[in-house]
Amino acid sequence: MPNYESSNPCGGCRTRSLRCVIDRHSGFCTECLASTRKCDKVVTAEDFDRAGRMLADLRRQVDEADAAVLRAKESAHEALGREIRLRKQLQLAEKRYADLAERERLSIEELEQMQATESSPSGPSTAPSGSSGDAVPFDFDALSPSWVANFDFGTGPTTVGSSSSS
Ligand SMILES: [Zn+2]
Ligand SMILES: [Zn+2]
Repeated sequence: MPNYESSNPCGGCRTRSLRCVIDRHSGFCTECLASTRKCDKVVTAEDFDRAGRMLADLRRQVDEADAAVLRAKESAHEALGREIRLRKQLQLAEKRYADLAERERLSIEELEQMQATESSPSGPSTAPSGSSGDAVPFDFDALSPSWVANFDFGTGPTTVGSSSSS
């Protein structure tokens, strides 16, 4: 909206027969503004109408700018959410890759171990296969009667594991 010439010139412009041009930003006569003279411009319906339209136009532009800011914020929020999601996926992928690499390493070691035991046929076939130690049965055959008979049950002065409660 450019500056416009008022259809109702102010006193200063009328006496000097100047075009009374209204500054659209301030709403004052440019001639009077330039000469720092007090403008006696009487507000007309036209001025009022223009001022109203200018106000509405500025309000609309502010709303548009506001909406643009909101869209930018939503876009940034969306981009941030996407980044967070991707970072989580990356973490999982890295974990999985490391896990697979570890399993690959273990399977190679297992294969080498199997090949090593196969080369010695007399090797013990009852090697612990990773089960818990409690599951290994007690070897009762080791407690043969002769072994029990020959065992010294602590008849001497030194008692093994004296259970003197204190
Ligand atoms: Zn004027
Ligand atoms: Zn004026």
